[in-house]
Amino acid sequence: MHCLRVCSVKSALILQLHKGTNLMNDLLEQILADCTPYTSQGHVATYIPELANVDPDRIGIYISLPDGTEHFAGNCMDLFTMQSVVKPLILLQALMDSGIDTVRALVGVEATGKPFDAFNYSDQALTGAHINPMINTGAIALCTLIRGETYEEKFSRLLELARHLAENPELCVDEAVYESEKLTGNKNRALAYLLTAYGMISDPVEKILDCYFKACSISVNCRDLAKIAHVFANHGIHPATWEHLFPAEYAKYVNATLATCGMYDGSGEFALEVGFPAKSGVGGGIMAVAPTRMGIGIFSPALDKNGNSVAGIHLLEEFSHRMYLSIF
Ligand code: GLU
Repeated sequence: MHCLRVCSVKSALILQLHKGTNLMNDLLEQILADCTPYTSQGHVATYIPELANVDPDRIGIYISLPDGTEHFAGNCMDLFTMQSVVKPLILLQALMDSGIDTVRALVGVEATGKPFDAFNYSDQALTGAHINPMINTGAIALCTLIRGETYEEKFSRLLELARHLAENPELCVDEAVYESEKLTGNKNRALAYLLTAYGMISDPVEKILDCYFKACSISVNCRDLAKIAHVFANHGIHPATWEHLFPAEYAKYVNATLATCGMYDGSGEFALEVGFPAKSGVGGGIMAVAPTRMGIGIFSPALDKNGNSVAGIHLLEEFSHRMYLSIF
């Protein structure tokens, strides 16, 4: 009885929100105003020098719903670089080009309990079981499984995938961020050489990293992230055209990895408080997937100690509670 009542209140609220564009916009404006003060609690990433130039007070949210409507608030059309938010796309492209078994054999799926760029693999040999697709070693290794004669071609395929899913043919690389990361990304070089030392990759490190750095430097806005997330939420089917963009089992693979490893060392807390798959990046973006319900794009570049957007997480917490989005 209690459950029925809760469910019908839930459905009524959701229906009302879906019906009224203004209601949804009002809700987004309201939670944005409530969460804006949190921007002062974080710091923009500075280890990639170009990222230090971003205004920490920016905050935006964009959602893409199954009825084709899109809603937004704040600085949702600001451009920022994907950084680690591109990792689900690297994983997806590797799955599409090399299949689940090959991907799984190279890179595992367990949360590491370590930062995204950790290289303290202690005295164990580095193997696939030690890494996952959402940390740097995993993503760098997966670049090798993207189809292409050259790493330029591999990157082009990845960029095309991002453009297609985001429905934005204009997505491109932010050259200043790319150059900045290429110049200073020695920790990623160390990780790639470690992968080489343990026989997990064999292509030239600089070529692989060039593809990885360019991927991290793809410039997007919240709308792009919401659109990409919506395809993952819809199990690989384009929510408007019903075109099958990729197999549902790949969407399941990516979403499951996001749910367990997508928010760095804050993934467990995020699962409890927000309750759906998401990927954050040190550029301040979060791509959040509410399965069967919607795609969400967030931007707010002031980060917490784990590298997640502070205000972005609060926005998602509020939105999830108000819309009953937790899958748990
Ligand atoms: N390009 C960044 C790096 O590899 C991505 C890190 C992130 O967003 O977590 O250091």
